[in-house]
Amino acid sequence: MRIAIVGGGAAGMTVAHLLDKVHDVSLFEKEPVLGGNIRTLNKNISCDSLDPRIILDNGVVEFQRDYFPNFHKLMHDLQVPLEQTPISSELFLADGHYYKSVGAIRYGCKTKREQIIASLKLTPIMLSYFCFLARITFASQDSFCHRPVSDYLGNSISSRWLKMLLMYAYSMPYNTIDDFPAEIAMPLLGHSGMFTKWDRIAGGVYTYIEKILSQFAGSIHCDAQITGVTRDLAGVQIKLANGDHQHFDKIVFATTPDQVLTLLKDPSDNEIKRFQAWKANVINTVIHTDSSIYKHFGVTYFCEFDLFQNKENGSCGYNAYLDRLCGIDPQVGTHFSLAYNMEQQIDPEKVIDLQHHTSPSYNLDAINYRQEVLETNGENNTYHVGAYLFDGLHEGAVTSGFVVSDLLGGLRL
Ligand SMILES: Cc1cc2nc3c(=O)[nH]c(=O)nc-3n(C[C@H](O)[C@H](O)[C@H](O)COP(=O)(O)OP(=O)(O)OC[C@H]3O[C@@H](n4cnc5c(N)ncnc54)[C@H](O)[C@@H]3O)c2cc1C
Repeated sequence: MRIAIVGGGAAGMTVAHLLDKVHDVSLFEKEPVLGGNIRTLNKNISCDSLDPRIILDNGVVEFQRDYFPNFHKLMHDLQVPLEQTPISSELFLADGHYYKSVGAIRYGCKTKREQIIASLKLTPIMLSYFCFLARITFASQDSFCHRPVSDYLGNSISSRWLKMLLMYAYSMPYNTIDDFPAEIAMPLLGHSGMFTKWDRIAGGVYTYIEKILSQFAGSIHCDAQITGVTRDLAGVQIKLANGDHQHFDKIVFATTPDQVLTLLKDPSDNEIKRFQAWKANVINTVIHTDSSIYKHFGVTYFCEFDLFQNKENGSCGYNAYLDRLCGIDPQVGTHFSLAYNMEQQIDPEKVIDLQHHTSPSYNLDAINYRQEVLETNGENNTYHVGAYLFDGLHEGAVTSGFVVSDLLGGLRL
């Protein structure tokens, strides 16, 4: 079969890899590079201000070890080496108070006295966290449906910490997290928190896309500007801005979900219903070397999940210490971080790279139809993949690729 895949992020590349073994696959990506939210500097993203030997991720960076089984299966199949990365977190509040996670206390406190003080500050937060865990562990997944995060998390410090972790995981503005769907948030918070083990891809996340490309026999069209997709009994027509029309038997949408109705010129009423509530969430991430954001707190140990409340406007952002997350040799001597929504605090002179990302804007109306999208895959010769159909993270992107590959008789790992 001739299969068109629209979108070259994690989900599109996974399904392309699996279908390529048995079908004639063409992948269309609107950007000049593949990867979607995978932005590996000195791999798919060039960066003149960075030593070419240094590889840094300015997008997707880490993966849960125990809760990403399909992602790990794919990495195993591609023989991509993974390394465990230590994870710790600190919470910096606008009033000047800060709190260290267990890992941050273990690795970041220099004296016994510092350790004891930080542990005493953490104890009530941990107790509140355990109560939250007890509440959600015994709840059924169905009970989270149609409910916002604010039904489970209030304004305590422990709740704010967890809400900021959700902001980090889904790149959603902090002021939208109260309305974030509990159905997606609660499973993540139930198995993340302080104790999960995390992996990184040695050599940067784009390494696995390079592996897929090295085996790929189909065709890849970057910078592809699709002006319309139509379907009929004979298959699928893709119209491109350069005037080309291409015909396929099937199409797989691997874009963010807000794009589906923009591209489809003949959507059915059901397709309109399933996709109309999805909007784009457009954000920036920067890689920088400005550690002065910690000075005010007197902190010298930087964590992988450092969460900041802005003094001026109360908005929140994160700063992820990349040296450990990207395995930078300490000999390099520069401290690299990846930040979101911290532009006001970071010295522009110390910014190495800025990336624009588009991800789904998660809301209760939009996620209502995810199950229906999965169940109707194949209708009108049309299939859908994307992290948004499962956990919103890399595991979801890979899993959605496995599902559609199975439906189309592709390789099964
Ligand atoms: C900054 C950031 C960091 C993240 N970090 C992590 C992390 O560390 N771990 C984790 O598990 N998850 C992380 N995520 C979640 C992430 O979204 C998923 O892990 C995953 O990369 C999403 O893959 P996807 O293929 O579903 O979507 P995307 O990566 O968004 O891919 C969609 C692709 O479709 C293309 N496209 C869009 N419109 C069109 C069009 N009209 N025509 C053709 N192509 C089009 C886009 O350019 C893009 O390449 C992060 C997300 C962001 C935004």
